[in-house]
Amino acid sequence: MDLTLSPQEEEFRDELRDWLSANHPGPEPEGDQAGFAFRRDWQRRLNERGWAGLSWPERYGGAGATLVEQAIFYEEIARSGAPQMANVLGLAMGGPTVIAHGDEEQKGRYLAPILSADEIWCQGFSEPESGSDLASLKTRAVRDGDDWLVTGQKVWTTLAHQSKWCMLVARTDPEAPKHRGLSYFLMDMDQPGVEIRPLRQITGEAEFNELFLEEARIPHANIVGGEGNGWPVAITTLMHERAGLAFALQVEVQIALRELVERAREGGFDGDAVVRDRLAQLWIEAQVLRLNAYRGLTATMKRGAPGPEGSLGKWHWAEVNQALTELALDLAGARTQLGDDVWTYRFLRARANSIEGGTTEILKNIVAERVLGLPRAA
Ligand SMILES: Cc1cc2nc3c(=O)[nH]c(=O)nc-3n(C[C@H](O)[C@H](O)[C@H](O)COP(=O)(O)OP(=O)(O)OC[C@H]3O[C@@H](n4cnc5c(N)ncnc54)[C@H](O)[C@@H]3O)c2cc1C
Repeated sequence: MDLTLSPQEEEFRDELRDWLSANHPGPEPEGDQAGFAFRRDWQRRLNERGWAGLSWPERYGGAGATLVEQAIFYEEIARSGAPQMANVLGLAMGGPTVIAHGDEEQKGRYLAPILSADEIWCQGFSEPESGSDLASLKTRAVRDGDDWLVTGQKVWTTLAHQSKWCMLVARTDPEAPKHRGLSYFLMDMDQPGVEIRPLRQITGEAEFNELFLEEARIPHANIVGGEGNGWPVAITTLMHERAGLAFALQVEVQIALRELVERAREGGFDGDAVVRDRLAQLWIEAQVLRLNAYRGLTATMKRGAPGPEGSLGKWHWAEVNQALTELALDLAGARTQLGDDVWTYRFLRARANSIEGGTTEILKNIVAERVLGLPRAA
């Protein structure tokens, strides 16, 4: 891939930079609710400017921009220190899945409120006994006239407490082989059959939840991609999760690394050979992450959809981000025990990086089998 920007791309980047410096919302307020409202408002402003769904087709409320422009957008947002948009899962995964597999009615109904952040989305895939082996999930959907009644338990459901819609995978045919008996539903979270219980993380936040479903009602029309076809639709969601976020995450790593170098200097570690060595290694890794993100982008542009190579970026990002935050804590020493330092938070949050969106072991299997063509794991 040619990494030089074209004159039009440079023009787009400059316009975006100007807009961001004039419209930057400032630091995010503390507290779950206040932070969420702040990010929702920020997304609304970006959407009014046509930037929330930059690379989505114009007929669905996007700007029809190229994937390179989308990548520039992520880079500039991260560089400016602007907050994340509130509807992370809807934008990165739900919308692209509906665009790829939904019917026109579903596209007309669901896409615009994702962009405007009027309807937040969550992902109901994992269950207490089905995470990596997602196809073994037990949540059952039983047909009831024009609806389905869904009963079961989901877990680790990020943002469920803020969400209107859940991308829910449930078993509609218990007799079929495990990958074939699944359907992909869009479930309205606002109903008596859905109970949401928060789970508190090591960071102190309750970012995710348990979902208890007791005959939750979902219209048949809310199946995406057809009854019994949930597995390929779920794979589309996961591919977008792994590849789609890779670009934004690699930029965040570059920025965090610059902060860390500054901190090492302030702490008088810039002459320490071991620290210098660890920083240099992280810098190399961050560049590899960046170049692989561009490589993934090229593959996506050629194929029209993200592929299994996104697993490499996600796995590598988790390793680099964990190593980065570990070095920050080593430099800070006992001070980190006070827990009021941003790096202490980042270190604790980074523990989840090698689990969320697919564990590193599973991603390694995907890269081995589907990118390198090695024999399947036993
Ligand atoms: C911060 C965070 C947010 C999340 N948000 C969501 C969400 O919004 N929606 C959602 O549905 N899920 C979410 N998850 C769940 C996440 O997708 C699962 O935790 C993950 O897929 C692993 O599943 P598990 O926890 O059941 O672990 P398991 O699958 O039980 O794995 C346990 C261990 O065994 C290893 N292992 C399992 N199978 C194999 C194998 N075949 N080969 C080698 N090693 C193997 C794993 O790598 C892991 O180390 C989130 C998780 C986190 C941490």
